[in-house]
Amino acid sequence: MASQDVAVREEIVAVCRRLYERGLIAGTEGNVSVRVAPERVWMTPAACHKGLLVPEALVCVDMDGQVCAGQGRPSSELPMHLALYRRRPEIRAVIHAHPPVATALTVAGYRLEVALLPEAVVLLGEVPTVPYQTPTTPAFAEAVGAALQRADAALLENHGSVTVGLSLQEAFNRMETVERVAYVLYLAKSLGRVQLLPPAAVASLRALRQE
Ligand SMILES: [Zn+2]
Repeated sequence: MASQDVAVREEIVAVCRRLYERGLIAGTEGNVSVRVAPERVWMTPAACHKGLLVPEALVCVDMDGQVCAGQGRPSSELPMHLALYRRRPEIRAVIHAHPPVATALTVAGYRLEVALLPEAVVLLGEVPTVPYQTPTTPAFAEAVGAALQRADAALLENHGSVTVGLSLQEAFNRMETVERVAYVLYLAKSLGRVQLLPPAAVASLRALRQE
């Protein structure tokens, strides 16, 4: 196996462990992939606990979803990951997790307002909410793909969140920030007042994001 594949598998395992330890996934929730070449995507396997994942359990697939390395079955959310790589050829990583506070916002009918914290505006940009679709279905993959055509993070109504990045670390940073800004929004709502950044401040942060 090429040294790049070995390193990527270890990187995915490390990120899965961090997602679990940060409480962004539980049980067998969540899935992570990294595209190492136009026709090679390393993916977490189906029905495994991400806190206990080992590199040997990962599966490599082509853009048709056919397994080209590794044993076992890729995550059932593979079609959603492939839909994102097709629509966003520049991205290298996709993370799907169930961050509890961000997910609770969607359950309560709120959107994720990013104009609360400077880092959120710069790192996330707009975070759309994808209306509920049955997970793993083609309709779900299509809805997530469309929502992330011009966004790097999305909430999934009554379900969780998806982030993408030019690296796996960038996608992870975005997932952590989604949950952080959701938590701050939740706290501010509990305190009784949500004061957004002024539009001019948001505009200068957006300019930083595009640099
Ligand atoms: Zn899910």
